[in-house]
Amino acid sequence: MEYCCTGFRNMLACAGERGNAVVVWVDSGGELRFLHQSRGVAFEDESKLKPAEMDVVINISAEVGMRYCPTCGRLLEKLVVEHRDFYSNLAKEHEKYLASMPKF
Ligand SMILES: [Zn+2]
Repeated sequence: MEYCCTGFRNMLACAGERGNAVVVWVDSGGELRFLHQSRGVAFEDESKLKPAEMDVVINISAEVGMRYCPTCGRLLEKLVVEHRDFYSNLAKEHEKYLASMPKF
């Protein structure tokens, strides 16, 4: 089982969609890390955005790093140690969801 709980599996499955999700990425040291990402606009809808005539700044997405599963509290490092290949592949899949993020 690659997931610690159903809640975590569901949040990973929501990556790139509008709303809250978990995204996997690889840091500059090659370590797999997890982010809690909140999207105002789904990844597939980003290209449909057009400049609007209003003076308001809107977040497309916002992220915060996380070390523990938000639903069961498991240390995510342990999950990665046990299922490195699975999360490495997921990180490649998720890379596009973090395109607008500064690289660390
Ligand atoms: Zn969990």
